[in-house]
Amino acid sequence: MYRTHNCGELRISDVGKTVTLSGWVQKTRDKGFMMWIDLRDRYGITQLIFSEEQTDKNLFEKARGLGREFVIQVTGSVIERASKNDKIPTGGVEIEVSELNILNESKLPPFTIENETDGGEELRMKYRYLDLRRTPVQSNIIFRSKVAIETRKYLSEHGFIEVETPNLIKSTPEGARDFIVPSRMNPGQFYALPQSPQTFKQILMVSGLDKYFQIVKCFRDEDLRADRQPEFTQIDCEMSFVEQEDILQTFEGLTRYLFKAARGIDLPAFPRMTYDEAMSLYGSDKPDTRFGMQFVELNDLGKGKGFGVFDNAELVVGICVDGIAAQYSNKDIKKLTEWIQRPQIGAKGLVYVKINEDGSIKSSVGKFFNEEDLRAWADKFNAKPGDMLFVLSGETDKTRKQLNELRLEMGRRLGLMDPNEFKPLWVLDFPLLEWDEESERFHAMHHPFTSPKKQDIPRMLNGDFETMKSLRADAYDLVINGAEIGGGSIRIHDRALQEKNFKLLGFTQEEAEEQFGFLMGAFEYGAPPHGGIAFGFDRLCAIMSGQQSIRDFIAFPKNNQGRDMMIDAPARIAPEQLDELNLDLKILEEVE
Ligand code: ASP
Repeated sequence: MYRTHNCGELRISDVGKTVTLSGWVQKTRDKGFMMWIDLRDRYGITQLIFSEEQTDKNLFEKARGLGREFVIQVTGSVIERASKNDKIPTGGVEIEVSELNILNESKLPPFTIENETDGGEELRMKYRYLDLRRTPVQSNIIFRSKVAIETRKYLSEHGFIEVETPNLIKSTPEGARDFIVPSRMNPGQFYALPQSPQTFKQILMVSGLDKYFQIVKCFRDEDLRADRQPEFTQIDCEMSFVEQEDILQTFEGLTRYLFKAARGIDLPAFPRMTYDEAMSLYGSDKPDTRFGMQFVELNDLGKGKGFGVFDNAELVVGICVDGIAAQYSNKDIKKLTEWIQRPQIGAKGLVYVKINEDGSIKSSVGKFFNEEDLRAWADKFNAKPGDMLFVLSGETDKTRKQLNELRLEMGRRLGLMDPNEFKPLWVLDFPLLEWDEESERFHAMHHPFTSPKKQDIPRMLNGDFETMKSLRADAYDLVINGAEIGGGSIRIHDRALQEKNFKLLGFTQEEAEEQFGFLMGAFEYGAPPHGGIAFGFDRLCAIMSGQQSIRDFIAFPKNNQGRDMMIDAPARIAPEQLDELNLDLKILEEVE
């Protein structure tokens, strides 16, 4: 028997017992006549003690030869510690060792395997098996497992069945590029890895499965922005005979249940906001509602006073930041202006109004607006003495985006984004289509299977180009603390409407038929009304834990270049393999 207990288990009440533990040597403290070892496993750390007085001489020497990360088995008696460590649950006891068995030696690890490590990110990814020994990393993975298990519990209790859908499929356009897999048996033909199981889950509804879910890997070949992974996991769901409201209720329920079960947290209300409201109040379809600073539009007060920048702008809009007027010197404002003018944000300039504590008002546009004008602004913002207004202007969408960045930056600077405060929000009524200036065509805002709102269907079938821009969809996102946790929609379940949607999206009839004939065909055999949602599981786990990086919740993540540093993938394949796959060898030669 390797162990009678694990390393996180023993307490004061166990004093006097003879126990056997197995684990890794985390740290040794050698005082010459006394030696302590921290023995670690997944469950915790237990201190071992060896002393010149009590311990057999050979055993003492053997213990002295142990290095970091040696795997050992010890037998000894549980004694009360002289100086207790109240930071760990086993801190009241230690093991007076009488037998030591080295199960495996270890090379000196390339970084320290403790809560705080000296290893850089790349090194830790290369030796992911060592990084995963560290308690904070391991506890994220354990947390993820718990959330997955609780998800299955909730959904199965609500009548969902888990169905696996294939990974080798045909491409589903959801806005990203597909990963492609060559087919050896079908020369010149390729599978795609699913960006999501979207079409399959809809087909399952046509099949009458009624409520489907799957915790599923999805693959998107995107340029990796920070905190995106080429393969990631979704909690993917679909339901039949539902309207938007049914889905919101069910998944608000899931979210509440998960926060309670995995973290003991009761979430506050889930307010709802339309996409249009979110854009005009926050300039974002995933607003962080942990703090205010809602946008206030100033077209009425800002225009017509001879300030050309405002007069020529489509939108004049600002935020009010509480209590910072006294702190922001001219130098700080200059710096902030430079920050917002960086190409990543690209604002032309920043107008400010300070409402000083003594009631006086100071502004960068004092030349054009007198005190009375500026007071009217302050009133519109409900500003108090000590507050400061920041105002941007320009083309509507761009200006909103820029002000969103500024709002978030002020939220960060003022410490208003507590990672352990949770503010959920449903964003509803997304546009169905989005006009893309560059490619001069419509894109589906969610995906091509999303249904327009019932009342918008006649306009979709008969309307002109401008009408198409104003169509609204039964599409919704769940946002928590400014992160999109999930998104979904009610689907089209009618062949004619689906065909019309493909046409609007620029598909020819042949293209639509070739790519989605199977789905439209299925719609002709009694497709029920249906809809669904998918949660980003990695992100959900990170947010629930009050952490930023999804990578920390994936056992084997990829780096910013999409590379698995541990196994060193992607990698070349042998020429024979390429040959067998009927792939052109030229590519390989060019790389070499
Ligand atoms: N398949 C969608 C996505 O991955 C989610 C959904 O509409 O259910 O975003």
